[in-house]
Amino acid sequence: MTPPDDTGLTLAGLQSLIRTMYSSKDEARGVEGTFMWLMEEVGELAAALREGSREELAREFADVLAWLATIANVAEIDLQQAVLDKYGRGCPGCGQRVCVCDASEKP
Ligand SMILES: [Zn+2]
Repeated sequence: MTPPDDTGLTLAGLQSLIRTMYSSKDEARGVEGTFMWLMEEVGELAAALREGSREELAREFADVLAWLATIANVAEIDLQQAVLDKYGRGCPGCGQRVCVCDASEKP
């Protein structure tokens, strides 16, 4: 397969890339095992936000996104479609492109 270039990567492309690289391992691990890895990566992102270099921080963002794509693969969720369905028409709370929900609300 052709790796995505640095300007054309979509969520669908990321999910496909991750599927190609890891699907057999991911299916064996299952949703629960994969979720634990995602949580570990979220913890590493938290640590990098506190005290990591820019390079470490960038790597942790990439890891969290990759593990999220992995779980979407195992759970058979089309991540790009899911994001478009939920956020493609604006804020799910108020429907606006620039959210006007009350700041105390979770959008
Ligand atoms: Zn809103």
